[in-house]
Amino acid sequence: MAKTVVEELVYEYWDCDKCGQKEIRGDIRTCPSCGNARNENIKFYRLEGKEEKVEDKTQVDKFKAGADWLCSFCETLNSVTDNNCLSCGASQESSKKNYFQVQKEKELKIAKKVETTEPKKSFNWKKFSIWAVAILGSCITSLYFLGKTHNVTFQVVDVAWERTIPVNRYTTFEETNWEDEIKGEDIVKLKSIQEIRSYEDRQVGTKTESYTDTEQYKTGSRRECSTSYESTGSGASKKVTTCDDVPTYSSRTVRKTREVPVYQKFPIYGTKVTYKANKYIYLREFTLKGRDNEPKWPEVELGTGVNGKVDKKGEANASYIVEFKKVNPEEKALDFQKIKTTEEKFRNFYILNQSVIRPVDIFDQIVLESGEERIEEKKEEK
Ligand SMILES: [Zn+2]
Ligand SMILES: [Zn+2]
Repeated sequence: MAKTVVEELVYEYWDCDKCGQKEIRGDIRTCPSCGNARNENIKFYRLEGKEEKVEDKTQVDKFKAGADWLCSFCETLNSVTDNNCLSCGASQESSKKNYFQVQKEKELKIAKKVETTEPKKSFNWKKFSIWAVAILGSCITSLYFLGKTHNVTFQVVDVAWERTIPVNRYTTFEETNWEDEIKGEDIVKLKSIQEIRSYEDRQVGTKTESYTDTEQYKTGSRRECSTSYESTGSGASKKVTTCDDVPTYSSRTVRKTREVPVYQKFPIYGTKVTYKANKYIYLREFTLKGRDNEPKWPEVELGTGVNGKVDKKGEANASYIVEFKKVNPEEKALDFQKIKTTEEKFRNFYILNQSVIRPVDIFDQIVLESGEERIEEKKEEK
């Protein structure tokens, strides 16, 4: 079946604004209960589930002629096919509005009322500020307690420093490595062999593979209809029903074949070299320790390596450790605490047997300064 379009008229209804009579059919112009003529206060509506087709030919023509006109003198709604007002006899030419224009004006009035009476929902600053103050307050409180410190007097009961210098010697070594990873100086190659270093996938051909696929196919068609209504503004609605055939589909699996590449692993060879070469290699380290406030560097003996090259010093290492004892048992702090400090503070502030005042946090620990580190003492060692 092809596309079909059916046009017909169905009645609309209106309610009397004077006596409240409901569902007066659109072709009736005066209220059957009180005789009130339909006027600018009424509104046409369709009834859900109760649809009555306009069969009468003259009524069809009357509805189709257009929207009712509003009498400017007595506000009666009259048919376009009537040249004079049914209530007062005034002429259609003196009319200023039709049914649709009257409805539009009513809608605009309602919209304006809504705009002016409904207060704009403004942001609740009062509620927001209460929350903000509460959250900010708790943040500040916790920061305050975390940052809260008190000063405690300690005695420096132990100081320990340790300084280390590693020494590297120019040495001959022998090793086997890939040709491009050889290091050192004065290289002497002793032996070189070819060895598999990695594998590479190379396409050697193709093969036919089967796989399943889904495909859509047409199974038939289904009739689909849609309906639209348009008011004539004179007591009826133009109903348009459009129907058409819509194809329906289903899916099925099918077996298909395709060509896919075939790969094989091929070894990649590299050259491995056994060689002798010279380079600086770690030899030993010199360490000096002390338990005073004057750290010194250890004496370093430098010998000579291969080719008469003098040993080289490596990167020096130093640590400065101070142990504190709380002086007054009443004060809130751990009795003994150990920290790693900087050379500058070790030499000038933490003098053995002297007392110092340091801030202590809420966990009873000394607050560290930059370059300092806490040393957690293991109980078993003491
Ligand atoms: Zn009435
Ligand atoms: Zn009139």
